[in-house]
Amino acid sequence: MNNPLAITISLKKPINGVYNIDHQCKTKDFEKLTQILKDDLSNLENSIDDNDWLEELINIKLQIKTINFGDDLPLISGTLSTLFSLACQNCLQLMAKKIDLPLNLLLGDSDRESDDFDGCDYWEVIGGNISVHDLIEEILILSVPLYSKHDSGHKCTVFSESRITDNELLNSPFAGLKNQLNNKK
Ligand SMILES: [Zn+2]
Repeated sequence: MNNPLAITISLKKPINGVYNIDHQCKTKDFEKLTQILKDDLSNLENSIDDNDWLEELINIKLQIKTINFGDDLPLISGTLSTLFSLACQNCLQLMAKKIDLPLNLLLGDSDRESDDFDGCDYWEVIGGNISVHDLIEEILILSVPLYSKHDSGHKCTVFSESRITDNELLNSPFAGLKNQLNNKK
């Protein structure tokens, strides 16, 4: 089977026309991303036995075309979506983080970083070319939160505990005074 992510985008030889990718792959297809998620999951209080998270689908809907900003440059637009399994840094329990990345990414070399690209994000390609696979992997890695926490409203055991702790702290001067008075009696 042809892997549509195997193509290389080159700054020197921009593609003609439009290249569409509508593809699904799995987390385990990205080695570096898998390692990063694995490291994160090692923080879990109870380690998970199953490897379902490796099979998590990554939906890739991208369009690659060439656009002229003085020079012809590759423009990648579309969406990447998946679900990351991570350890919540509050409660150390497993959490799923929905990833939905709209992309509008102009690829170029370092010289152009300060230019204005009409609302596009700029992605510096080192060495003049990058495979679509590597580009997607780097984008996904950047979207792994450094400090992942359950969203409020979800079950996060530490949220409720910390609220109690705050209340105790708030009350403690009075509680202490009350204790002293009680002791004097
Ligand atoms: Zn949590």
